[in-house]
Amino acid sequence: MQARDLLHPRPEGLYCPPGDFFIDPVRPVDRALITHGHSDHARAGHRHVLATQQTLDIMALRYGEDFAHSSQAAPYGETIDVNGVRVSFHPAGHVLGSAQIAVEHGGIRIVASGDYKRAPDPTCADFELVPCDVFITEATFGLPVFRHPRPRDEIGRLLKSVSQFPERAHLVGAYALGKAQRVIRLIRDCGYDQPIYIHGALARLCDYYDTQGIDLGPLEPATVEGSAKRDFSGAIVVGPPSAFADRWARRFPDPVTAFASGWMRIRQRVKQRGVELPLILSDHSDWDELTRTITETGAREVWVTHGREEALVRWCELQGVAARPLHLVGYEDEAE
Ligand SMILES: [Zn+2]
Repeated sequence: MQARDLLHPRPEGLYCPPGDFFIDPVRPVDRALITHGHSDHARAGHRHVLATQQTLDIMALRYGEDFAHSSQAAPYGETIDVNGVRVSFHPAGHVLGSAQIAVEHGGIRIVASGDYKRAPDPTCADFELVPCDVFITEATFGLPVFRHPRPRDEIGRLLKSVSQFPERAHLVGAYALGKAQRVIRLIRDCGYDQPIYIHGALARLCDYYDTQGIDLGPLEPATVEGSAKRDFSGAIVVGPPSAFADRWARRFPDPVTAFASGWMRIRQRVKQRGVELPLILSDHSDWDELTRTITETGAREVWVTHGREEALVRWCELQGVAARPLHLVGYEDEAE
């Protein structure tokens, strides 16, 4: 058996013929294995879904309890037989519940890592290295120019600005699943214990993180109708980036707009978005994390998906590792 007989791209997503399942399909299928809850990977409408309990919970929160006909929880590290193919889920360090999926059959092990990062994140389980024959990696930040700074330093710049401009509100744009909770937790880890105000779109996910033992400290709604503008002076307000163009954002006094994203490395994007305080904070691996992980898996072959495939493929070839882009479509990375 060749690796491509075990997994290969189809228009619906990555398909396993012997197991008759898809990984993170972008169209409704009979059997889907889902790496994590971001909307480009986890879609509603599949007949059967296999994912970690946290990913299933997050899908239910976002799409409703009937997001699939049936579902099964995959505990980290446990091997599950799917039509004779052995599959197991392992922490990816990306967001709460995120997993790499190992697929094993006919003496070949392929790891589909989904989105992943190696930097420590107090809001999810640490990435676990899974040795494999073929490693499927994302390449969102797959260029040597991408080297993420330390998260604590970025949050330190935010808190410095808060103390420098006590009369202004600080509006922090952060995607609703994962990034927002990580930003809030990092702010707490830097010693800030005052209430943090959140946009309504974040409330259910923040509550869910709390039930999973991730303490986000005191959170208050930033959507109180009729509240005087001065109420938010000196406050930190976290909301999804989409809300910043809304009327919602205009209630805050002379706001400092911040945005937490790996893309804040790029000046042009900072300018385009009119961001005053860019915070370079990513839930994806930077170039060093990508290349280090490829080496550590011991994979003899690497398949590169969504992102900047060419540079990473070229890097693998220079290391003597066979590599090819998978050209999967439909993963636009909501979370960066
Ligand atoms: Zn993601």
